[in-house]
Amino acid sequence: MLFNIISICRGGGYRYCRTDPPHPKRNSKGLYPLHRVILENRLNRLLKRNEIAHHKNGDKMDDKEENIELIGWREHAIHHAKRVIWIKVICQNCKKEFLRIPSQIKYNIKRKSKNFCSRSCEGSFQYPKGKRISRGSVTAT
Ligand SMILES: [Zn+2]
Ligand SMILES: [Zn+2]
Repeated sequence: MLFNIISICRGGGYRYCRTDPPHPKRNSKGLYPLHRVILENRLNRLLKRNEIAHHKNGDKMDDKEENIELIGWREHAIHHAKRVIWIKVICQNCKKEFLRIPSQIKYNIKRKSKNFCSRSCEGSFQYPKGKRISRGSVTAT
């Protein structure tokens, strides 16, 4: 048991909670998603960035302990494949085909960056002179 749940509230289709001690990743209002806290309490450790607390029955408000399972980010996207569309992209550096979700591609277009299959490909790609774009991390939404 890492956190005691002091209060619960709703927002954005999920339930959030305040904990004691306060969750290290709480938002500015002191809240953190309840299902993640429940899973962290069960595992007795914090979830990593790429780990997702998935609602087995698809009901995001159903935070019963048996309804929440630990799942990797990639696995989770496949699990919800009906809603997540994967798009084939060609890596600008090694020309290998790989899969991206649209939000990541949009992000790259916005940054006028190119699509790369990996950090090392992004790092070794030679941008035309004077157009070097600073690297930023890509996160899923
Ligand atoms: Zn899920
Ligand atoms: Zn590559």
